[in-house]
Amino acid sequence: RAKEAGKNRYQLFDPDSDRKAQTHRQTLERLRHALEHEEFALYYQPKVDLQTGEVIGVEALIRWLPPGAPMIAPAEFLPHIHGSDLEGAFGAWVLRAAVAQAAAWQQAGEAVKVSANISANHLLQPSFFDDLRSALAAHPQLPPSQLELEVLETAEIGDMEQAIAILQRCRELGVHFALDDFGTGYSSLTYLRKLPVDTLKIDQSFVRDMLSDPDDLGIVEGVIRLAAVFQRKVIAEGVETLEHGALLRQLGCRLAQGYGIARPMPAAAFPAWRQQWRERAIWLELPPPARA
Ligand code: C2E
Ligand code: MG
Ligand code: MG
Ligand code: MG
Repeated sequence: RAKEAGKNRYQLFDPDSDRKAQTHRQTLERLRHALEHEEFALYYQPKVDLQTGEVIGVEALIRWLPPGAPMIAPAEFLPHIHGSDLEGAFGAWVLRAAVAQAAAWQQAGEAVKVSANISANHLLQPSFFDDLRSALAAHPQLPPSQLELEVLETAEIGDMEQAIAILQRCRELGVHFALDDFGTGYSSLTYLRKLPVDTLKIDQSFVRDMLSDPDDLGIVEGVIRLAAVFQRKVIAEGVETLEHGALLRQLGCRLAQGYGIARPMPAAAFPAWRQQWRERAIWLELPPPARA
């Protein structure tokens, strides 16, 4: 009987998925608490023009800093937020924090364009436009063109017409848009053709391996060409070495971001980094592009 009961229980109750569901619920509650208690911070990773050396912007990347515990990377907690009721509030916090930092730098004479990441889910929520508008309204001295939004998980956009309408409305405010992780997921070409965005970000997985993998190199070249055809800017992420930068320049991709240029850093570290970047400018010594 015991064996039979055990067997029955096993059929009704999958301990593995139950544990996962419980972890998810608990993490979501911790995240809700973290949001209310300002335990998140944005780190900033510079983006540069490989040809002129100019710092063209910074990407805001979320970090969770629970008091007295080590920093937690987004890959560990974003999956819990994604698709939950917290997604809108979380995204709104990111917008407010990114705009506030852009405004602070602007006021300090350190103006730099700030890119924030937004999920396609948040973009499509009815609250999104107001989240964005009120974040900008809190800092009226900041030109909205100093803000860019990198749209994530574009493959999840179901209603293309709705997405286009939202993007157009936001662009009328002056905000710029990029498609993040371009080349991953499905239907990228449809999104590219239809969505009114300014920039394509070549996914770092292709960039990282393009020196050793001809398929990845082909994809990088393809995205660069697509950007040219569709008159979009193109930026490469995951630029880890000088060699990556040199090849990108040769291929006609001037804009780059990656550990080889700088790692994400706290906002307070950025002015000093920019100063020493100007002085060093090793990237300017790269071989010139083959096709200018
Ligand atoms: P992403 O938007 O594609 O950002 C690039 C990620 O690659 C960042 O990881 C960055 O630190 C990392 N990275 C940059 N350069 C290099 C490099 O040269 N080599 C390698 N191996 N990695 C590099 P991070 O900060 O862990 O963020 C991971 C992802 O989490 C982001 O990918 C984005 O999808 C998401 N994310 C980050 N911040 C936010 C946010 O505020 N809101 C939302 N919704 N998602 C965010
Ligand atoms: Mg991004
Ligand atoms: Mg990316
Ligand atoms: Mg990514």
